[in-house]
Amino acid sequence: MSDSEAPVFPSNFIEEIIISDLNNGKYNSIVVRFPPEPNGYLHIGHAKSICLNFSLAQKFGGKCNLRFDDTNPAKEEVEYVDSIKRDIEWLGFRWDADVRYASDYFDQLYDWAVQLIKDGKAYVDDSTAEEIAQQKGTPTCPGMPSPYRDRTVEENLDLFEAMKNGKHRPGEKVLRAKIDMSAGNMHLRDPLMYRILDHPHHRTGDKWKIYPMYDWAHGQSDSIEGVTHSLCTLEFIPHRDLYDWFIEQLGIHVSKQYEFSRFNLNYCVMSKRKLRRMVEEGFVTGWDDPRMITLAGLRRRGYSPASIRNLMERIGVTKQDSVIDMSQLEFSIREDLNQKASRRMAVLNPLKVVITNWVEGQVEEMEVENNPEDPVAGSRAVPFSRVLYIERDDFLEDAPRKFFRLAPGREVRLKGAYVIQCNGFVKDDEGEVVELHCTFDPHTRSGNDTSGKRVKGTIHWVSADHAIDVEVRLYDRLFTVENPVQDENKEGKEQFDFLHYFNHNSLKVLSAVKVEPSLVNAKVGESFQFMRKGYFAVDPDSTEEKLVFNRTVTLRDSWSKRKNP
Ligand code: ATP
Ligand code: MG
Repeated sequence: MSDSEAPVFPSNFIEEIIISDLNNGKYNSIVVRFPPEPNGYLHIGHAKSICLNFSLAQKFGGKCNLRFDDTNPAKEEVEYVDSIKRDIEWLGFRWDADVRYASDYFDQLYDWAVQLIKDGKAYVDDSTAEEIAQQKGTPTCPGMPSPYRDRTVEENLDLFEAMKNGKHRPGEKVLRAKIDMSAGNMHLRDPLMYRILDHPHHRTGDKWKIYPMYDWAHGQSDSIEGVTHSLCTLEFIPHRDLYDWFIEQLGIHVSKQYEFSRFNLNYCVMSKRKLRRMVEEGFVTGWDDPRMITLAGLRRRGYSPASIRNLMERIGVTKQDSVIDMSQLEFSIREDLNQKASRRMAVLNPLKVVITNWVEGQVEEMEVENNPEDPVAGSRAVPFSRVLYIERDDFLEDAPRKFFRLAPGREVRLKGAYVIQCNGFVKDDEGEVVELHCTFDPHTRSGNDTSGKRVKGTIHWVSADHAIDVEVRLYDRLFTVENPVQDENKEGKEQFDFLHYFNHNSLKVLSAVKVEPSLVNAKVGESFQFMRKGYFAVDPDSTEEKLVFNRTVTLRDSWSKRKNP
C-alpha cells in the first residue's frame, strides 16, 4: 500500500489476513472466486459467500472469478448455470472476465494425474466402494493398504489410460492418491481422485469417461486461476491438508484455503439437494416459489438485492457457527422498503361502506402522499365517492372502549380524506355484517380540517366504483419448526424427514382484494407498501386482466409473538 492511499481497515479475520499478505508483499493483488456446483438454484446461504468474495475483490482492487464446479455430470444442468449467473448479477456483482468451469481444466487435471502416477503418488485401484470404505479404517484405527496399492508405474499408466478410454465400467476402477493409510486425517488415507462415470457432460459431451473428484479438481482449479485466498465454509477444514498436499506434490501456484462459518437460517432448509426435493415432489411451485429461500424465490417475493447485501454486512464473517433468526432477514427488507416503497391503499378483506350524505355520482380527488420517508416521492390523487370499501376487521358491532376504529356511533378518519361516523349496518341471512351506513363530516377534509375534532383512529379505504380487483398471496414460514432437519443424525428416537415439518398453511390466496386505481400500471417486480398491511411485490403471474401481489413481509414482526404458524 503506498503512503498516499487511505489505510484499509479490516472488518473480519479474512480481511486481516489479506491486508497482512498485501502489506508484507506476499501478493501484489488478490484473486478470489465463487465456485458453485450447478446442481440447483442458489440460496441465501450462497449469498453470504458471494457477498464476501466479490466484496473482497472490490475492497482490495482484486479479482473475483465465477467458476462452476461442474465435475459431476449426473446432477448438473444448463438451467442451473444460467440461473446462478442471473442471481449473482441480480445481487449486484460481476465476475472477472469470462465465466470459468472446472471442466475447462479436465485435460490439465488428467496430465497432472499422470504426473502423480509417474512420481509413484497415485495408483489405480480395483477395490469396490465397500472395500475402499473398509480399508479406510476409523479415526481411532489406522487403515489398511489396498491390495492394488503397489502396482507398478507402467501398469498404473496403462490402466488409467484404459479408464479414460472407456474400457472399464463405472465402479470397476478408481484412481487414488498414494498418501498415508494411517494418517490421523482420514482425508489423507489414499483419497479418490477419479471415478468412472458413463454420463454425458453439459459442456464436454461424451469426451470423458472419468471425472475428477471434488478434492482433486478444486484446489488445482484454484491454482490454475492464480487464486490467492480460497474461501470456503468450516466443514472443509479437514480437506485443507489434502488441498495443500496436491499443490505441493505438483509444485504449482500455491493457493491457500481459509474457512468461515456457514449462513444458517431458522424455519428453512439450506441445501440445494433438499430444495430440489421440495420442487420435484411438488411441495412448492418451483425454485422461485416466493416461499423458498432461493435467491430466485426471495426476488419474486419482493426482496431487494440491497436488503440481502445489508443483512450479510450486518452479520459479518466469523468462524463461529450460528443460526440467524428469520426476523433478521425480515428486518432487512423492511428497512429497505420503508425508504423506497410507495404507499398505496388496498383492502384485503372488503366490507362495503355507503356514505349516506354524499351526493350520488359525485367524485372528489384526494391528494395522498406517496412516502412520508421520502420527501421527493410526491403525492397522488385517490378518488373518493359514495360507496367505499374498508377492511372487515376495522368494524366491530360490539367494540371494546379502546377499539379506535369503526363501530356503531363511533368516528374514524379515512386516510387522506374525511372523518366518518357509523350510523347503521346491514346483515345478511347468516347474520354477517355486509354493509355499513355512515355519514362524513365536510369540515374534516385532510389537510383542511376546521372541525376541531379529535379522532384517534385512521383507517385505509378504496372507492368501490374505482377500485381494481387483484389477487394477493400471503406467505408464512415454510416449516413448522425452527430446525426442520432436527431429526437427521438422531439415533433411537423417531426420525422424521424434513418434509414432515412442511407448513401446509404457508400460502393463503385472497382472490377478491380491492386496491386503489393508481396501481393499474404496476409492473412485475415493483414493490409497494399497502398501508397497515405490509409490503407487496407484483408477481410474474400477473396478467392484463388481473394483477397478483405477493406479500413480501408484514409491517411489524408479528410472528415472533405467535406460538404456532
Ligand atoms: P448446498 O448443500 O446447498 O448444495 P454447497 O456448499 O454444496 O451447498 P456449492 O454450490 O458447492 O453448494 O457452494 C458454492 C459456494 O457457496 C461454496 O464456496 C460454499 O462454501 C458456499 N456456500 C454454500 N452454502 C453456504 C452457506 N449456507 N453459507 C455460506 N456459504 C455457503
Ligand atoms: Mg456441494
